[in-house]
Amino acid sequence: MQAELISVGTELLLGEIVDTNAAYMSQRLAALGINLYYRHTVGDNLSRLKAQIEVALGRAEVLILCGGLGPTDDDLTREGIAEATGRRLVTFPEAEEELRKFFAARGREITPNNLRQAQAPEGAKLLPNPVGTAPGILLEHSGKLIFALPGPPSELQPMWLNEVEPRLRARALQAGGGTAIFTRTLRVADLGESQVAHDLRDLVEGQTDPTLAFYASPGEVKIRLATRAKSQEEAAARFAPLEAEIRRRLGTYVYGVDDESMEIVVGKLLAERGATLAVAESCTGGLLGHRITNVPGASRYLLADFVTYSNKAKQDILGVPEEVLCEHGAVSEECVRAMAEGARRLVNATYAVATTGIAGPTGGTPSKPVGTVYMAVTNGVNTKVQGFVWATSREVFKERVAQMALNMLRQSILGELP
Ligand code: AMP
Ligand code: MG
Repeated sequence: MQAELISVGTELLLGEIVDTNAAYMSQRLAALGINLYYRHTVGDNLSRLKAQIEVALGRAEVLILCGGLGPTDDDLTREGIAEATGRRLVTFPEAEEELRKFFAARGREITPNNLRQAQAPEGAKLLPNPVGTAPGILLEHSGKLIFALPGPPSELQPMWLNEVEPRLRARALQAGGGTAIFTRTLRVADLGESQVAHDLRDLVEGQTDPTLAFYASPGEVKIRLATRAKSQEEAAARFAPLEAEIRRRLGTYVYGVDDESMEIVVGKLLAERGATLAVAESCTGGLLGHRITNVPGASRYLLADFVTYSNKAKQDILGVPEEVLCEHGAVSEECVRAMAEGARRLVNATYAVATTGIAGPTGGTPSKPVGTVYMAVTNGVNTKVQGFVWATSREVFKERVAQMALNMLRQSILGELP
């Protein structure tokens, strides 16, 4: 089965926004085992959009468009699909009702162009959008499926998961004679890709079904198991023994599965234990707090995040002793230890985690080169510190430090920090 994607929007062609929707949908299609051979970007231009839809429909069984469903005149995805499939645009009364309610609830006047969002090609089904005004569109045309999804990722992703993926899965099962690809991703922290590949070498070499593949990103390696099966249950039964063997070898380096990020895993561990957390950040500049608070319900465990960038703030707010700063400097084992212990004490948290380092590209010295970083975790009884030198870009450095600090916290909660 073959799919094509069309991202619609002149701002994409101008490079003003990056096409993260295409990356998201490509990853999800790959996990479903649906082939994607072409991806297109078209500006807000009706004739070019129509032409591209026709080209894509000449090849693929599934066409997914994103963007261009807004209320303004340059949002032309509805018109493009209608013209390419030779259908009229019609108003869907239920959708118009929903729009009127959406505006009334916000005390805003509905304008005529807003009502364009209640239109779709004749014969289409509208896909609900609980977080925005533009419903999605599903049109079955000449045995093909055409989806149109809203541009904002916060609207596209839930619609993809709730409305698109179940239908694609069903379609893929049909096309595959009752089978489809299922995947399970094991997420590994604190081990390099080459180490993971080494530890699992015989499993990779002997792989037949499920297959095994590795993907590396800053601070983690993903191990993807894939199999062709009739159902999720059948796939799960096939993954189980291989996953158990991988976990036996890698132990708690495997921190999560599928969409479970490190902050989700850590949040769960804290919430389960009724434990609380304080954060003290220097070189991560709030990134740790940002990641922790991306998880719904973080207020159950996160008490405070102190972003103390200057020496004075470390001293005045966290109580890092002046001697520590004078003798060892802000980027030191002693300082990060005092930061974690100070933060924990200030809000009486169960745990605290702290970071301090030199992100670069300036600020390095012969004894403390760019990339030097210290991280600490404390539970009030023991404080563990780790230090590394990770010379890389500023952005990747911050991501790696945040990931590693969260992982230290996870290991500490599990009682496994050496
Ligand atoms: P549109 O529906 O085309 O008016 O898009 C609305 C907004 O969604 C845009 O202003 C972008 O912020 C966002 N957006 C649209 N297309 C994409 C895309 N392919 N990837 C990421 N964001 C997008
Ligand atoms: Mg647009």
